[in-house]
Amino acid sequence: MRGMKHYVNGVFTTTGTAFPLISPLDGSQRGTVPEATREIVDAAVRAARAALEGPWGAASVEERCAYLRRIADGIEARFDEFVAAEVADTGKPRDLAATVDIPRAIANFRAYADLSYGRPERAYHTRVPGWSGSGEALNYTVRRPLGVVAVISPWNLPLLLLTWKVAPALAAGNAVVAKPSEETPSTATLLAEVIDAVRLPPGAFNLVHGHGANAAGEFLTGHPGVDAIAFTGESATGSAIMRAAADHVTPLSFELGGKNPAVVFADADLDEAVEGTVRSSFTHSGQICLCTERVYVERPVFAAFTAKLAERARELKDYGPMISAGHRDKVLSYYRLAVEEGADVLAGGGVPAFGDARDGGFYVEPTVITGLPEDARTVREEVFGPICHVAPFDDEAEAIRLANDSPYGLAATVWTGDLSRAHRVAPKIEAGIVWVNCWNLRDLRTPFGGVKASGIGREGGEYSLDFFSEPVNICVLI
Ligand code: NAD
Repeated sequence: MRGMKHYVNGVFTTTGTAFPLISPLDGSQRGTVPEATREIVDAAVRAARAALEGPWGAASVEERCAYLRRIADGIEARFDEFVAAEVADTGKPRDLAATVDIPRAIANFRAYADLSYGRPERAYHTRVPGWSGSGEALNYTVRRPLGVVAVISPWNLPLLLLTWKVAPALAAGNAVVAKPSEETPSTATLLAEVIDAVRLPPGAFNLVHGHGANAAGEFLTGHPGVDAIAFTGESATGSAIMRAAADHVTPLSFELGGKNPAVVFADADLDEAVEGTVRSSFTHSGQICLCTERVYVERPVFAAFTAKLAERARELKDYGPMISAGHRDKVLSYYRLAVEEGADVLAGGGVPAFGDARDGGFYVEPTVITGLPEDARTVREEVFGPICHVAPFDDEAEAIRLANDSPYGLAATVWTGDLSRAHRVAPKIEAGIVWVNCWNLRDLRTPFGGVKASGIGREGGEYSLDFFSEPVNICVLI
């Protein structure tokens, strides 16, 4: 992989002091990343504004969609490079990057090309007796882009989550200044190369690298020239960004943290529920916002389910590391806290020993615990690692109460063989997404997002296009 670069007004630059890029796989330094100064962020915002006043602002929806399709083709043409970069930055298994991250990033551009090209606009004939003319008015709505949009994304699904915002923002006609996570700058840099190669008008997409607080992220979210902020990351960061955005009343779209429950009823197919929970708790070593960290199991099957889940967790071998030493230390501090709080550790709870270079990386064991009260910090706070707490429940009402007893509300999973129960329980769970007998099954047209501390607004399908544009009603007396 070539070096990391900012991309501002169609030009690649490395201005700014550099910080090291560390491999989570073995702790080695892989390279350096330039840290954007306030001046670089300012130049990116000004370039985005100018793009809106130039050829990009004048582009038709057909032209914008054509660019999106060419970007998708461009990523596809360099597929292996993108996969390798995502694996190197995150340490996730190659298979995950090759079947989820990069294909989904490509799909994001194609889906938003389709969705925005086919988007209907509304019109109403309004009877206005007593007004001159025909006594009728025509109301119709057009959608205008918001303007300069700041996109701030996290490290867990770097390209997938970045493009999930960049694609609809561009489709709706905005100009973008994107700041990927400082931990995972590589695929964003490759995306800038693809965008440059398809000759998107300069300034329509800008990329700045750097940290968040007191750095590029904050320079961007507090910039008076930014018309909207689309952010995915921790809830605490969301609060900080909200404070920065308050000065300019900047509109926000937030996808934040979670402490997602799974509810397993005794009538579920137990093997499927166990395998589903292995995936939902341990995929990408628990570093997906949708991962399950709380499992509630109906008492008659509690012992059998918990024993199988722990056995499967102990069997897991091909898993990736935590993203950084700091995050590994945070996850391990929760492993220790769980024990202090009185948990029984049924699987994992420590650091694996591989006897090879991985011992220098940031690995932790897949961990299953039980026996904690609902007010234990380990049960309430997002760990964002491969750990789940399993607790029993006695009836449907208790299952719903326990699932909802959280400051978060991103996603939930219900395992049951009773379809009526599924329809009864799912809408009562306080979450933006409820899966029944599956997990992380995504249709890009559906709404995606969280309630409570898990977010503001929805992404996906028309929901993203709604956020990234403003309806203007035009009323003509006819
Ligand atoms: P984070 O909040 O630490 O960082 C996310 C991004 O925000 C990074 O680019 C970072 O540099 C930037 N940032 C940090 N402080 C900032 C500030 N003060 N101003 C502006 N920008 C700032 O999150 P993370 O550790 O990268 O990601 C993990 C978190 O993201 C978890 O909480 C996870 O649940 C959440 N997440 C949510 C979703 C979702 O869709 N709801 C998806 C993925 C991850």
